[in-house]
Amino acid sequence: MGLFKPAWKDNNEKKALKAIHKLKDQKKIAMAAKEAGGWRVRQAAVDKLNAQNELENIAFNEKDQNVRKAAIGKITNQKALAALVKNDPEYDICITAVNRLTDQELLLDIAKNGKETRIRVIAAGKLTDKTALLNIVRKEKDPYVHETALEKITDSSVLVEILLNAADNMHIDHIFRRLAELNTLNADSLSHILKNAKDNYAQTLALQHMGGYYCSACKFQNLPLNEQPAPCKCKQCGTDNHVFEDRSWTEEIAHTTVRVTTWKECKRCRLERDSSSEIRFTDW
Ligand SMILES: [Zn+2]
Ligand SMILES: [Zn+2]
Repeated sequence: MGLFKPAWKDNNEKKALKAIHKLKDQKKIAMAAKEAGGWRVRQAAVDKLNAQNELENIAFNEKDQNVRKAAIGKITNQKALAALVKNDPEYDICITAVNRLTDQELLLDIAKNGKETRIRVIAAGKLTDKTALLNIVRKEKDPYVHETALEKITDSSVLVEILLNAADNMHIDHIFRRLAELNTLNADSLSHILKNAKDNYAQTLALQHMGGYYCSACKFQNLPLNEQPAPCKCKQCGTDNHVFEDRSWTEEIAHTTVRVTTWKECKRCRLERDSSSEIRFTDW
């Protein structure tokens, strides 16, 4: 540096910022972006900087997060952005960088191998390539990443095909939910799944959605009849297959006194059992 001190090096931030606003020469702007004293001054210079190589240089080497973020906000080089997502120690920087990625291959890599679930979810949410999305729907172990990719698939026939071969219960649950959202869990697709799914859990869910069940004693497939849920008594061995859930009813019988009745009720045939009631005193 010679005797001449540029105005953007002024210790007074306002004066330095004013000098930045006046700068037109990109070389000088680049220099100010790297060498100015205050981060606000460097950030103002970055806002005026166009050269991608200089912006990348700053994104990787600048100490101040705000300045780095400003630079990343202008970077278009997808590989550089992906490298920042993978290697930057600051979470915020990774988020800023992943949000600027559009390259499907790089996004898929981050969605699969990124270090943080949140970052992987953002990457999965930016995928538009169907093959990449299906890759995640088939293989992903993280439920959030899996769900994010799945929500972007609208082709239910592809999902049914994946479901038939799926072995992971989480995948099976998610795909069933997605098929329900897409209004494609009809009698035809359910019986197709019931007949062809490789995994017993997928078959069990299909049977349940249809209103049937596997007998707990003999494993017989009790199918629904005429669109009515299958009777709880197994058609083959006669064992009861009720699905009891807890129910309760509270009635006020006097001020601060209620009667609470609880019982178990079969979800399928509405049979009730184990009814009991007790008087409780309340504060109100
Ligand atoms: Zn049975
Ligand atoms: Zn029942």
